[in-house]
Amino acid sequence: MEGSLSGLLMLQEVDLLLDRERAELAGIPGELSIVEAELAAARNDFAGVESRLADLASAQKKCESEKTEARQKLAEYRTKLLSLRTNAEYKAMLEQIAYVEKRIDDIDSRTLELMYEEDGTRGSIEDARKKLDRYSERASKKKELLAEREKTLREEVSRLEGDRTARAAEVPVRLLRKYEQLRMSGRSSAVVGLVRGACGGCHTNVPPQNAVEIGQGISYSCPICGRYVVDLDGNRGPAEGV
Ligand SMILES: [Zn+2]
Repeated sequence: MEGSLSGLLMLQEVDLLLDRERAELAGIPGELSIVEAELAAARNDFAGVESRLADLASAQKKCESEKTEARQKLAEYRTKLLSLRTNAEYKAMLEQIAYVEKRIDDIDSRTLELMYEEDGTRGSIEDARKKLDRYSERASKKKELLAEREKTLREEVSRLEGDRTARAAEVPVRLLRKYEQLRMSGRSSAVVGLVRGACGGCHTNVPPQNAVEIGQGISYSCPICGRYVVDLDGNRGPAEGV
């Protein structure tokens, strides 16, 4: 293979590595935000259960004070009952007493319901707390790993960028420009192999005469996709630097 082409091929290898590592770097913020979102959801669940517990406590308190009030009223009515003179007044007061007694019964059953619910909620706050602990631990581990990975990738990318500059300097400007154009147009591989007599990029058949020349290391540019077609399985080693 022509020296300039094998130089281009090496440049392409570095670029493909760079593409891969840059893409992985670009994906890290997204991975971090997934971790953050999971943690936020677990925090939210926990806060939800906590606020339900607080609501239940204040509802029970309200029941207590309503019951105290009703009992006071009941005592008041019972005292009044003794001083009433007419049957009508007496009957009306008995009705009022029955009404307040019913009210106290209702408050008692409501209090019982609230206590049952509080018991259940205490169980689920334990679960929510465990889940939150688990997610927090997982999130900090994941963040640590991602930070390490990011550091490694940044080092690797900067090393490869240096490598790339050195390799690009060895490729003739004309070839380099064509290569950059191909990459800009979205073709990550600007240099491809000859695959069963066809361009390894667009699979267009290469004329037999050109295929022979490619085998001899002569530069060939595919007329359809513009990629350089080289003999990747052939004698790259000895032909290098020719
Ligand atoms: Zn092609």
